[in-house]
Amino acid sequence: MSQNTNGMDYDVLIVGAGPGGIFTAYELCQANRGLRIGVFECGNPLHARKCPIDGKKIKSCIGCRTCAIMNGFGGAGAFSDGKYNITNQFGGTLYEYVGKAEALELMRYVDQINLSHGGDGTKLYSTANTAIKKKCFENDLHLLDAQVRHLGTDKNYIVLQNLYDELKDQVDFYFSTEIDMVERLESGYALVSGQKRFTGRRCVISVGRSGSKWMESVCAALEIPTRSNRVDIGVRVELPAAVFSHLTDELYESKIVYRTKQFEDLVRTFCMNPHGVVVNENTNGIVTVNGHSYEDPALHTENTNFALLVSKHFSEPFRDSNGYGESIARLSNMLGGGVIVQRFGDLIRGRRSNVQRISESFVVPTLAAQPGDLSLVIPKRILDGIIEMIYALDKIAPGTANDDTLLYGVEVKFYNMEVEIDRNLQTKHKGLYVIGDCSGVTHSLSHASASGVYVARHILGTQA
Ligand SMILES: Cc1cc2nc3c(=O)[nH]c(=O)nc-3n(C[C@H](O)[C@H](O)[C@H](O)COP(=O)(O)OP(=O)(O)OC[C@H]3O[C@@H](n4cnc5c(N)ncnc54)[C@H](O)[C@@H]3O)c2cc1C
Repeated sequence: MSQNTNGMDYDVLIVGAGPGGIFTAYELCQANRGLRIGVFECGNPLHARKCPIDGKKIKSCIGCRTCAIMNGFGGAGAFSDGKYNITNQFGGTLYEYVGKAEALELMRYVDQINLSHGGDGTKLYSTANTAIKKKCFENDLHLLDAQVRHLGTDKNYIVLQNLYDELKDQVDFYFSTEIDMVERLESGYALVSGQKRFTGRRCVISVGRSGSKWMESVCAALEIPTRSNRVDIGVRVELPAAVFSHLTDELYESKIVYRTKQFEDLVRTFCMNPHGVVVNENTNGIVTVNGHSYEDPALHTENTNFALLVSKHFSEPFRDSNGYGESIARLSNMLGGGVIVQRFGDLIRGRRSNVQRISESFVVPTLAAQPGDLSLVIPKRILDGIIEMIYALDKIAPGTANDDTLLYGVEVKFYNMEVEIDRNLQTKHKGLYVIGDCSGVTHSLSHASASGVYVARHILGTQA
């Protein structure tokens, strides 16, 4: 690494090699200005990311130093389903900062980059003008508008590998390099990692959900205001793919919202994976559930899975919404050693599922979770909302409320606290940007990637 004329190691320091960090680096490189860019990532390069859980010898999380699912090149999205939703209706509130038209333009731009790096030939689904929308209305359900590019876990991996191959000669990547601290300098920033120190004129932080606690400490140290008031709690539903095939064949992913009669809470479907698998997710040592599916038909399962989530917004004086979600997830970890699975029929009969009931189920679970009782874990109000929505979905997808439908819990969507940033996604400290999921502004691949492109363009536009 050589020093440039300004006495700094880099023009731009990027913390985190998830979609936010990758697309910042990509867009900066596109300008061909010979900028010196350093990307610092606590996880491994893509090829070295391997979760030890094999379902045989190692059945549950063993708490690796960095989680191969969440950390490393590609970030939390590396083994995801690779669903890039092009919409302002969910996935983040980037449009509040950059405007709705620009947010969509950025997401379409990201889509083109993905296509040109290995995603070519994948399908773009759309919810607009479908008969399903009408059917949802008739049953008090609301289908949100979106275009969805489904790369699939396999193609998503190829796209990431191609992006890395293109960037690696133009960018210095530091893997297994956890940044401990960000320091303000007179004309830039320093990143501290153990005994090492890296300086740069601008600094872009994109540490995602897994870096949320660290992000809080950075904001506290640099006196950047934050606020936090939301967490989504629910279950992952797994059922025969045929039950949802009329929706998934046409839309791939349908985001459906329902307002419960009892509490008027909003329950929504989230992250739908036709013919997919249910997986563990580890956030800050707490095991929750998630799901994905492959583009390659050879890797398809008989099942479809999706989450049903209830958003909890808290008012003052309570501020620790993530702590609330964590406590509920901890309960499931305490009772089940990780994720708990329960048949819907057992849940509504008020009894736990056990190994025998699960083994006799017509739906074969794709995740080896502990059979148990979710009503001992999930607060009544949230569980009642989920049960109500399952019955509502049963009207548009008969079979959803079958006894053998599997519910895995808990699924928690932690929202990073919202960091105070301006319309350029810049903190009150000039040249320090916070983007992607760690900013609290985005919660998805497309929005996080788009925020990276946006900030790179701002940096290029203001470069002295
Ligand atoms: C299993 C799974 C499936 C998903 N499926 C989808 C999907 O299909 N569609 C969708 O839109 N979204 C999906 N998501 C969410 C999506 O992955 C995230 O919204 C997206 O990755 C956010 O990008 P990001 O760059 O902000 O953060 P991340 O992708 O989380 O990347 C942040 C990176 O920063 C690194 N880091 C953290 N702290 C430090 C530190 N102190 N020093 C150095 N490095 C650090 C982390 O290791 C990580 O690699 C999924 C998530 C998971 C876990």
